[in-house]
Amino acid sequence: MKKFLSILFLIVSLFSFRNTPSSNCIAQEVVTVPILMYHSILKSRKGEYIVSPDDLKNDLLWLKNHGYESIFVSDLIKYCEGTGDLPQKPVVITFDDGHYNNYYYAKPIFEELKFKATINIVGSYTEFSTSSGDFDNPNYSHLTWEEIKLLQENDFFEIGNHTYNMHNFEPRYGIGKKTNENFEEYKKNLTDDVEKLEKCFKDKCGFTTNIFAYPFGKYSDDSYKILSSLGFKAFLTCNEGLNYLTKGDSSKLKTLKRYNRSGFYTTEDFFKHIGIE
Ligand SMILES: [Zn+2]
Repeated sequence: MKKFLSILFLIVSLFSFRNTPSSNCIAQEVVTVPILMYHSILKSRKGEYIVSPDDLKNDLLWLKNHGYESIFVSDLIKYCEGTGDLPQKPVVITFDDGHYNNYYYAKPIFEELKFKATINIVGSYTEFSTSSGDFDNPNYSHLTWEEIKLLQENDFFEIGNHTYNMHNFEPRYGIGKKTNENFEEYKKNLTDDVEKLEKCFKDKCGFTTNIFAYPFGKYSDDSYKILSSLGFKAFLTCNEGLNYLTKGDSSKLKTLKRYNRSGFYTTEDFFKHIGIE
């Protein structure tokens, strides 16, 4: 009888042991993801959208020292689609507009510290730099198609679409619908623009992307409907906040939040401002 009771106890203990970690697993599947948004990296001046190379490097060292591991936006897609996992403390770093100074100043820092970044390209800026022949100046140039190809092939970078030529306030605000446009006209104009950049990526750089960054953070249900029908899966806004992502739930990919990294903060103050530790 005593033996029977101890075997019973063992079975009950094993059963409860199996239950505890599995319920923890469910709880762990919500992951907090800060996404940082950089633009220009310059030594000569600072601004709301200009960070110095030293501050950028300090940011990455701060993240590293606080246990963060950088991942791509495409890793968020895999996680939210249930096909990939995330590290315990993930961080996503993005650069908007495709400035050449990202290549000149940021690329060596990312390679040295083994950090990853997603760079969102404006096609018309890249076409202008490439075709004018006036490129590779960190102060004002944008990345050429060749540099974008090299970045996409580099283990530490991936590329997103930031429109071909809708990074303007006029005649529409970003990808916003014009007041005199009906849905079908809007759909055609947005599709033509975004697919023009995808075609450039494909023909000149040998890849396509399913990551979209909204110019000036402007978006709507209509723009989501159109862009998701074109195959885009992750959408970067300029709404500030942390992202709470659940494995297998892709609804949050529709409006991923980002913190603009203004050049006016020190590294410590910036991370205090966004509230991560
Ligand atoms: Zn932009």
